[in-house]
Amino acid sequence: YAKRNGGNQYQFYRPEPIVADRRRLNLESSLYYALERSEFQVYYQPQVDLISGQIIGAEALVRWQHPEWGLVSPADFIPLAEETGGIIPLGEWVLLTACRQAKAWANLGFPLLKMGVNLSIRQLNQIDLIERLVAILHQTELDPQWLELELTESMVVHNVEETIRRLQEIRSLGIQISIDDFGTGYSSLGYLNKLPLDTLKIDRCFIDGIDQNPKNAALTQAIIQMADSLKLKTVAEGVETLAELTFLCQSNCHAMQGYFFSKPLKSDDFQQLLVGKKQLPIPG
Ligand code: C2E
Ligand code: MG
Ligand code: MG
Ligand code: MG
Repeated sequence: YAKRNGGNQYQFYRPEPIVADRRRLNLESSLYYALERSEFQVYYQPQVDLISGQIIGAEALVRWQHPEWGLVSPADFIPLAEETGGIIPLGEWVLLTACRQAKAWANLGFPLLKMGVNLSIRQLNQIDLIERLVAILHQTELDPQWLELELTESMVVHNVEETIRRLQEIRSLGIQISIDDFGTGYSSLGYLNKLPLDTLKIDRCFIDGIDQNPKNAALTQAIIQMADSLKLKTVAEGVETLAELTFLCQSNCHAMQGYFFSKPLKSDDFQQLLVGKKQLPIPG
């Protein structure tokens, strides 16, 4: 079979890529229809203040409930959606859903929550992004200060000047901006200072076992100090243990997100946390 392409290429034949291709095609076409079939859901993971122990925000995380395959992880379909452009309608739907939810919780009288929504590079580069953001804020009547868009470092390293202009436009709407997975990309400290940002989210690879890993501990403390001097808030991602939490509190990190407090939840379950005023036990 592989010989059809000429004898020389015989050695390149591997069965796996063909299986992967088929799976990819399947995924790609399913992804295309999944929005119309309402197979996506938005989950919400609480963000908790490390002084008060109270829920101060949520991150919107998309989930795909496929009728046959079950729950598909965003790690499996977001990159493909990015590649094919499907991320544009999907990302916009997540944004609309999350803003609507934030407004609904505000209307129910819960303390106001900052809603973090992940933005893809495709969305950031969209010519009419600002108009779309304005339309969503208008439609949902959400006060823009309660929306925070999460970008990754890799999205801002290309064409820094253009990105700065983009982010300034977003911020002039009153929307906040955070850098997600901070520490895993190529951040030049030089431009970090120039970017209009509000929050650094410290990647969970630094947080994992931080109480036992002196290098990660030192890096995290350096990130927090740097963020402080740039007047940025810090959110630690992926906090799973009390020991990690204790270390972060002692290091004056501002907020946390992670399984230790809660995994991402369906909106009803998140609302139960708000009703029960669930609090993080801050180690004293
Ligand atoms: P992210 O934005 O960095 O989101 C945090 C991820 O860490 C989430 O994975 C969350 O479930 C997971 N996580 C939270 N706490 C813990 C913890 O204590 N331990 C561990 N091991 N993991 C924790 P998830 O939901 O699978 O999302 C993966 C990535 O997919 C996100 O990373 C984000 O980059 C992307 N993503 C998710 N939803 C969207 C979306 O609506 N739009 C875009 N563009 N990307 C999205
Ligand atoms: Mg994120
Ligand atoms: Mg992250
Ligand atoms: Mg861990």
